[in-house]
Amino acid sequence: MGGRFLSIGECMVELSQAGEGLLRKGFAGDTFNTAWYARACLPVEWSVDYFTALGDDPLSSEMLAFMKAGGIGTEAIRKIEGRTPGLYLITLKNGERTFSYWRDTAAAKKLADDADHLRRSLEAADILYFSGITLGILAPQAVETLLAELRRARAAGKRVVFDPNIRPRLWPNKDYMLRTIEAGARAANLVLPSFDDETAHFGDASISETIARYHALGVENVVVKNGAEGATLSFGGGGTSHVPAVGVPNVVDTTSAGDSFNGGFLSRLVRGASPEDAAAYGAAVAAVVVGHHGALINPALLPG
Ligand code: ADP
Repeated sequence: MGGRFLSIGECMVELSQAGEGLLRKGFAGDTFNTAWYARACLPVEWSVDYFTALGDDPLSSEMLAFMKAGGIGTEAIRKIEGRTPGLYLITLKNGERTFSYWRDTAAAKKLADDADHLRRSLEAADILYFSGITLGILAPQAVETLLAELRRARAAGKRVVFDPNIRPRLWPNKDYMLRTIEAGARAANLVLPSFDDETAHFGDASISETIARYHALGVENVVVKNGAEGATLSFGGGGTSHVPAVGVPNVVDTTSAGDSFNGGFLSRLVRGASPEDAAAYGAAVAAVVVGHHGALINPALLPG
């Protein structure tokens, strides 16, 4: 049986170094990356759609064409006159990647401004996915609109999945950031945090503390990702289990590790796999992704 997966957030134009002063153009963004991997891992009976807002410029049209070519539905994407997509540039400094962003006026900041359209789009989906980055780009009123609709979807029995993906530079101050991440988690019934982020910003001393903190907010199911150390699962209050990462002899680029884990994991979970089996598959997907350059790798390379 099929269903509909809807991922909500911002996809950006990515400019990376192509040598001799040239830049290569791509498209990526955390929630879009997860949609990409969910699409790659789900059978055709499942549709995967992206929910955002774009502009009416040529780059927005190219991005839409890229999504469609990847099999991702774009019908829910609003077009906002006079706006453009956000953009980031990757530069290499002594072998380390640094990111510069131009996203203050991105169309995606308006993704929740049409509440009726938002509600209709959420109602049409079975599983909804969003992140702390989705919330971080929105004005406080838009955060409220989006979370109210997600809480409504959760109350209607849908799966609502949240990856906190904590990025301080998106937020005006730490207190508002942490309170809004908590509000995002409260709207969800499954939260997929990365331990690195949680310990750095919430000060968790251990993975158990991260799990307990999210359960205390009313989240039934928690998966804490911890890079090469694997993932720890706590589903429905039934105790924790640990799923190891898949060993990768040559890690070349960890961009999108968490996003691809989420896409692989959810693609199995929604089809009835146990959380542990779904996490083992998520880890296998992420292991391939960290062995290749770039956020989005060719679906043909992923494990079946
Ligand atoms: P994020 O990208 O959100 O920080 P993590 O770094 O925790 O997420 O990684 C998510 C998942 O990707 C891990 O649970 C693991 O399965 C896989 N992964 C990440 N780094 C590695 C690695 N070096 N080797 C193998 N698997 C990895």
